[in-house]
Amino acid sequence: MHNFNEVSPLKTVVQEFIEAPPGRDRNLLTLVEMGFSAEEASAARDRCGLDASVLELADSIHAAHMAKDSRGIVLGSPMINKPNEATFYSTSRKKRILMEEKCKHKRNRHQGSRRSEFLKKAALDVDIPKPMIGFSLPFQNRIKRRNLPDSALGPPYFYYENVALAPKGVWDTISRFLYNIEPEFVDSKYFCAAMRKRAYIHNLPIENRFPLLPLPKKTIQEALPTTKKWWPEWDNRAQLNCLQTCTASAKLTEKIRKALDDSGDVPSLRVQEYVLAQCKKWNLVWVGHHKAAPLEPDEIEMLLRFPKNHTRGGGIGRTERFKSLGNSFQIDTVAYHLSVLKNIFPDGINVLSLFSGIGGAEVALHSLGIRLKAVVSVEISEVNRNIIRCWWEQTNQKGTLIEVDDVQKLDGGNLEEFMRRIGGFDLVIGGSPCNNLTGSNRHSRDGLEGKDSSLFYDFFRILDLVKCIMGKKF
Ligand code: SAH
Repeated sequence: MHNFNEVSPLKTVVQEFIEAPPGRDRNLLTLVEMGFSAEEASAARDRCGLDASVLELADSIHAAHMAKDSRGIVLGSPMINKPNEATFYSTSRKKRILMEEKCKHKRNRHQGSRRSEFLKKAALDVDIPKPMIGFSLPFQNRIKRRNLPDSALGPPYFYYENVALAPKGVWDTISRFLYNIEPEFVDSKYFCAAMRKRAYIHNLPIENRFPLLPLPKKTIQEALPTTKKWWPEWDNRAQLNCLQTCTASAKLTEKIRKALDDSGDVPSLRVQEYVLAQCKKWNLVWVGHHKAAPLEPDEIEMLLRFPKNHTRGGGIGRTERFKSLGNSFQIDTVAYHLSVLKNIFPDGINVLSLFSGIGGAEVALHSLGIRLKAVVSVEISEVNRNIIRCWWEQTNQKGTLIEVDDVQKLDGGNLEEFMRRIGGFDLVIGGSPCNNLTGSNRHSRDGLEGKDSSLFYDFFRILDLVKCIMGKKF
């Protein structure tokens, strides 16, 4: 096992960008990655201000192009770097030059097309389909057909996940970055006893998928049979709501018990409504007479199909367990999509796992019987990294696990080094943090440009680099 701790020294022509504090100036890097020149990006920032989002900046560049076309005026500040140099901004090693040369011609050609692709704004208008069943469900004949653009084809295959119900326009933007691929919207209630509305953008084949067996129970009372005895008739829930990152307080469950105790054999409609609303909000289940209780972490592990005690021990507290589980993949759902890889890679695969969390991707692949030849796992939380490492040891993995603690440390140089060592990536997979996208975080719901959610751009940046290094891009 290897720990990766180094960050490359930064010495390139775009140092102005790199040495600036993270956040806003990362937007400039993203624009350069999108194929705009550093000069254009910088001029757009001067025009729009420091707080402008990537999209606002891109739109401003677009407007500047149109103004230039119609008036012949050149907008912008003096040239500060050559466009092609920017991509490898934080790569310090000698091989950067080699790689730069290798990718230069391809990138030159590509940048024009990526830029025009991007500027074809709203080419795609993402609607959330109902029912949220994705391109297919296990054992159903209905499969959606799709044609992927050449630029999207693997290898490497990639798989990106985030919450389905993001603010308007977020999935359009994500899709525009990821080769205009239509997101696959799936509610995990079709796979297990809990809802989980997520969308996935991927370039995997969608024919011949198969589910993990045995199929999980899809109702609460089947999945948690001991609750059946105590379940009141007036609680009509068959499935749980989305498993969240936090849990109900003891005070609340005590309040519920008191309300029911005080209301005789059959509680009034008003009490029923109150209790049911709380049960739905906090995913409470019945564990005794008038006793509604939050799910235990091991029950959540089971519902998400992680091995029992996956997140237990190793210094992780209950609160952290709920948090990590609440952010995780639902294994049955993701494994169904990834199942097609089993035939494609009979000898196993090399995985770049970004924002690995507690290893939903790794567990899904392993559960499918796909050998993990090498995994580069990138996860900022130490407790999560410990969970993955323990799981790796306990499942007797024979492959190589390389740990990186921050996606922002990945650059062309170290990616190329990893790839040379393990032989390239077959799959780039991850779901970036959704903190600024979800309904329960309204105070910080500032969309894709939010502090955490903007890490999506790192997924795109890194995928783009991997594709480039693998010479598969254009
Ligand atoms: N799909 C994962 C969970 C993803 S949640 C699973 O199955 O468990 C997003 C994860 O991104 C969180 O675990 C969070 O700790 C991690 N993260 C946040 N910022 C990061 C960064 N800069 N680099 C790497 N990981 C990061």
